[in-house]
Amino acid sequence: MTDRPALPGYPLRPAPSARRAGPEAPYATPWQLACQMCGGSPAVEMAIRHHQGLVFFMLFRKRKGHFCRTCGTALLRKHTAMTMWQGWWHPLSALLFNPVTILLNWRVHAKIERLPGPGPDPFASRLPLGKPLLLRPGTLVGLLPAAVVLLFLANLIAG
Ligand SMILES: [Zn+2]
Repeated sequence: MTDRPALPGYPLRPAPSARRAGPEAPYATPWQLACQMCGGSPAVEMAIRHHQGLVFFMLFRKRKGHFCRTCGTALLRKHTAMTMWQGWWHPLSALLFNPVTILLNWRVHAKIERLPGPGPDPFASRLPLGKPLLLRPGTLVGLLPAAVVLLFLANLIAG
């Protein structure tokens, strides 16, 4: 029961405070970020990195935007898997830039893990999750050069 009178007009409209809005509302409220891929909410600002260390040069790529949990996870898996096999083939990349890129993506992963699910996807525009990172061929191929780099560093430290 509300003590506010109904507003004049035909048909009688309820007073604005009687409108229902709650966590079950499927769309982002104006002050909440929405995913730029699917429109789902909540979303957070993130920068997903992709490093390519080629023999003669290096490429640094960054996918910046606000993504929901599902789209963020899909993009993170894709770019981290590519980094895992493309990032080791330049000395500076192998020793510095690729490990840093992987660590920065790991921080984005922690950010995504704190997000609740984005709710329904009425237009089916959400990115497909794809395989988990450790089941992708790119990641598995990349584990070999990663092990070589680790061995090299261990040897260097041991003298
Ligand atoms: Zn999304």
